[in-house]
Amino acid sequence: MPIEMPKGLPFSVDTWTPSSNRKRHHFLTHAHKDHSQGIATHSSFPIYATPLTKSLTLNYYPQLNESLFVDIEIGQPIAINDPVETFTVTAFDANHCPGAVMFLFEGTFGNILHTGDCRLTPECLQRLPEKYLGKKSKEPKCRLDYVFLDCTFATFSSKMPSKHVAIRQVIDCIWKHPDARVVYLTCDLLGQEDILVNVSQTFGSKIFINKEKNPECYQSLSLTVPDILSQDPSSRFHIFDGFPRLPERAEAKIIEARANFQPDPLIIRPSAQWYVFEDVTSESEKRKNRRFKEAIRDNIGIWHVCYSMHSSRDELEWALQLLAPRRVVSTTPEFRAIELGYVRRYCSFDNLAPDDPLWKLLDIDLGAPLVNEEVPEKVIVSKKEILTVSSPVKGPSLTLFGRARGGVGNSVFGYEDLVKPEIMKRNEDEVCSDGDVPEGQHDGSKSNGLTKGTGKRATAYSPTRPSSGVSENIRKMYRSMHVPVPKPLPSLVDMLNDRKRAKRRFML
Ligand SMILES: [Zn+2]
Repeated sequence: MPIEMPKGLPFSVDTWTPSSNRKRHHFLTHAHKDHSQGIATHSSFPIYATPLTKSLTLNYYPQLNESLFVDIEIGQPIAINDPVETFTVTAFDANHCPGAVMFLFEGTFGNILHTGDCRLTPECLQRLPEKYLGKKSKEPKCRLDYVFLDCTFATFSSKMPSKHVAIRQVIDCIWKHPDARVVYLTCDLLGQEDILVNVSQTFGSKIFINKEKNPECYQSLSLTVPDILSQDPSSRFHIFDGFPRLPERAEAKIIEARANFQPDPLIIRPSAQWYVFEDVTSESEKRKNRRFKEAIRDNIGIWHVCYSMHSSRDELEWALQLLAPRRVVSTTPEFRAIELGYVRRYCSFDNLAPDDPLWKLLDIDLGAPLVNEEVPEKVIVSKKEILTVSSPVKGPSLTLFGRARGGVGNSVFGYEDLVKPEIMKRNEDEVCSDGDVPEGQHDGSKSNGLTKGTGKRATAYSPTRPSSGVSENIRKMYRSMHVPVPKPLPSLVDMLNDRKRAKRRFML
């Protein structure tokens, strides 16, 4: 989930708001719509993206002018000429969806890795410059100052199968059901193409997609894997919409087959969402961890395979140990980052020195004297309080480094929409997310306030009483997930504005 880049940086990544539009350079990590929301109205030259991400984005937003884009090739550093400082950026494969990359920025602002959305693997990380990789408990020769990290599944402690293993499970499931005349694959999301390609190659069949009913998916697949598509509905393999109301539609297909005295169709959903949100069917099954080793049938008849485009907690921990960055900034909710042991141990924002580069990055001037007379207590702000304040006040949704886009306080989405992001990808005006993202938890981040990385979770949550800044829908969602309703932290902007007002009063 995109967040605004700090004010002290000359570029934005995956945000298309009025404030990010004021940045001099723009980067798009991949074509999922939750990373391009607003691009049609707020984009400005130049937008750096891989050629495939550019093509997919132009498909989604035909009104966009292609000349806004600058192609960036994977592994080829390019120098960005900026009026203030020249910096270098290099794209690396993010193992997320076709065209998806991480960006490595190197300049006087420091060395910054922005992962976008990613499924970090040894192969991914080994493609980074060697100087940034630690070896055998040795720190890297050159440390990354900041990693902006996709922490979508930082709270997901189970060991997920690799994408390759998950695809194998899909194929095994099909082998075990030779009688199924029709195999429905809920693979309509960008990033699930490898499943379709492997199924097509293994069973020697093209895959039917109804281009009238799902034109956007058809266009994407026509760009990424055109050779395996078919318009012949008699094909055994069909692409099936994952949302909305998958259970109802799946059940209807099964009832229809039975009414016609046909074998049940096989409906396979390769996604991590079911594993994140659904209850484990039994304790013994949980103990065996069987559900990650093979496809599992739910009580409706849908077969699930844990296919994830995001890193699990184990994978994130391993990656951070290797990269040993000085600071980690979650591009997903704060509590996701502080769930990571590495962040808790090494990335505290407490006790920042006055000359820490972070202040420059945040564009905060600490040189001016602070006022402590004739000023209400709540507006007295010290350097430390800016980052570690624990007295909640009302404020807009912020991360440490800027406002999170589309705060949920004003959300009109219901619970169904929040936990099923693919519903939203069909509406250009709403936030869209790739299939594996538990959108509801994303939205939690937008109301969480400051992203501190301090591990002070207790200051950010109120498990017993509702938060004034969180909508009823969001509260319901959190309760349904048995997690505390997040309590908004103070707005960094409000605090700084209060501080300015206090200074002005003092001057008068
Ligand atoms: Zn994505």
